[in-house]
Amino acid sequence: MTAGEVAQLRPGTRVAVSFGPRPMVGILITLVEQTDVPADKIKPANAILDSAPVVPDTALNFYSWAADYYHHSLGDVLQNALPSWLRQVDRRDIDSCHGWQLTSLGQTSHAQELLGRASKQKALLHYLQDQLGAISEQKLLQHQHKRTAIKALQEKGLIEACRLPLDSGQLPTITESLLLNNEQKEALNTIQSHNGCTLLAGITGSGKTEVYLQAIEEVIRNGQQALVLIPEIGLTPQTTQRFEARFGPCIRVLNSACSDGDRLDTWLAARDGRAAIVIGTRSAIFIPMANLGLIIIDEEHDASFKQQDGFRYSARDLAVVRGQIQQANVVLGSATPSFESLANVDNGRYKMAKLTQRAGNAVPPILQAIDLRHQSLNNGFSNEGIAAIQDSLSRGQQALVFINRRGYAPVLMCHDCGWHAHCHHCDARMTVHMQPPHMHCHHCDARNGLPKRCPSCHSGQMVLIGQGTERSEEALQQLFPATEVLRIDRDTTSRKDAMRDIIERINDGQPRILVGTQMLAKGHHFPKLGVVLILDADGGLFSADFRGPEKMAQLLIQVAGRAGREEQRGNVLIQTHHPDHPQLQLLLQQGYFQFAQAQLSLRQNMELPPYRAMAMIRADSNSFEATEQFLQEILVIGEKIAGGEIQLLGPLPSPMPKRAGKYRAQLVMQAAHKGVLKAFLASFIKAIEPVRGTAQLHWSLDVDPIDMF
Ligand code: ADP
Ligand code: ZN
Ligand code: ZN
Repeated sequence: MTAGEVAQLRPGTRVAVSFGPRPMVGILITLVEQTDVPADKIKPANAILDSAPVVPDTALNFYSWAADYYHHSLGDVLQNALPSWLRQVDRRDIDSCHGWQLTSLGQTSHAQELLGRASKQKALLHYLQDQLGAISEQKLLQHQHKRTAIKALQEKGLIEACRLPLDSGQLPTITESLLLNNEQKEALNTIQSHNGCTLLAGITGSGKTEVYLQAIEEVIRNGQQALVLIPEIGLTPQTTQRFEARFGPCIRVLNSACSDGDRLDTWLAARDGRAAIVIGTRSAIFIPMANLGLIIIDEEHDASFKQQDGFRYSARDLAVVRGQIQQANVVLGSATPSFESLANVDNGRYKMAKLTQRAGNAVPPILQAIDLRHQSLNNGFSNEGIAAIQDSLSRGQQALVFINRRGYAPVLMCHDCGWHAHCHHCDARMTVHMQPPHMHCHHCDARNGLPKRCPSCHSGQMVLIGQGTERSEEALQQLFPATEVLRIDRDTTSRKDAMRDIIERINDGQPRILVGTQMLAKGHHFPKLGVVLILDADGGLFSADFRGPEKMAQLLIQVAGRAGREEQRGNVLIQTHHPDHPQLQLLLQQGYFQFAQAQLSLRQNMELPPYRAMAMIRADSNSFEATEQFLQEILVIGEKIAGGEIQLLGPLPSPMPKRAGKYRAQLVMQAAHKGVLKAFLASFIKAIEPVRGTAQLHWSLDVDPIDMF
């Protein structure tokens, strides 16, 4: 590397570093003259891969913030944040849209003299001196200039790399928007009239998306960019089409279906301000944007915004931070806002805008409980439930049956001796599937054949207890032989395009019965739906997780929201053995927000999040003792470091202590404030780094965990 090259290096530039035989990509973070790192821990960079920094400073700042907050290395964050091509050494000159311009030395009249007899370099310099401003590298190459000449001029300090201004070919076109109703106008005004975060709490069908579209419109009219995050499962063609219908084909979409090349292309276009609107799932929160004006998180309560392994970040929480760093407004939208966000409205950090009416002429559904006690059920269906489906079908409408369990039955039992089919690797039962017949553990993916006789007493009296989507589908098909029943769960939608095909069939409007899991609760519009039947609401009422009631309420309200999208009022029926349960009553009679307030005061009294900052260390190993011992050991260390402000709890067994052959337990850490917890975690993580358990012990830190598993 020449001294000139080193002098030109700036943070965000990629370099190649040899690790063993393989060169790997490193990102230059900072330049120092001296370091405390021992010499044998330092590796030389073999090559510089980019002529200009690839990762902009604002992005690096944001990534550092995330690394600090979640106590992960910056390397982990970059691994999640950068498109895979940027992490490959052989991808050079990825920056197809960068350009070259003269330095002040290059602009002087005697610059030519510095080049002696190098005719190719002279020609290039001449060419650039004849142009106004910067030229794309592509164009230089098209005009027969050579990369070697470009490099030579750069080394002589005559030209420098630069980014090119906005590519006008991708400017959005804005088609006419809808006339907002009063609530929508007020919501838009709240978003636009303050710098910060707005919680847009609007019931399903209230026109949140229209508010997003008009907020985006203002931002792009000002020459800024908008980033829209959507839950994994919600990123359907339906969603993107609505954005495209308004803004034209300029919309960039980032999801798991994108090729690596697409991803990089979008990443660069966003970074350089050429992509006006980017829509993506969780990891799109890391995409750099030069002129970010607005971030929208749709369905902000959705669990898919939280990464649940490795670098466990929350894209929603990071969005709020990113908005502050880049002075962009943030909108969190949901019909069922997370309790965290509602608490942030209460404490004044966010503003709230509410949409309580359905847009257009649509009317919200009525929710009612069906008392299952003392009823004889037909394969899990109450008479009232069956009658309601019948009624909806005879009016030419569709019916939706929701059951949050896939497979045929959750329990296989021997009638003679009481034997249960358990998974050998988990503290869990195997679920029976019939299409095709097998047993499947939904926690570790183990599969077994279906035993015809009891493995314990050889009786042939095997019984199936409980029901999942497959069994409900079978029962519905028997009850309504003339009507098509469509099952929607992970098993029927795993094939590529399967979901799209199913949605298309639903949307042709023929009377049909849909039966499925929470996949149905998200994002889809079913205009012909007359009734929603929730087969079993009781699981959520008695959950071990303190977030159980919150999750139950969100799921019920989201599923209910599928009903009655058009003028017809929809019915939502909830089957339960506990119709008088106070939580269920509160939700059905007072609605989600009253329910949330009651739950929030409970959380406050019990000193639970969002009123306490929480983090968790999860550990697992091949033996119960090793996991316990490790957690005991680090607990002692933690207690030494923790002042009175930190509360350490553990080791606590996981709700499922054995999973996929691993024994799991956890340590919970709490403090009154996030800052206090963060400071503690920083020293704690350092202190336990040297503690190595035995028997392949793994541990991970989860800051702001959203479930206890
Ligand atoms: P949400 O995102 O809150 O579920 P949508 O934005 O999908 O609601 O709106 C529901 C329906 O109402 C859509 O068909 C949309 O086109 C329509 N809509 C939204 N706002 C208006 C409005 N101001 N006037 C008329 N129709 C509207
Ligand atoms: Zn038996
Ligand atoms: Zn298992």
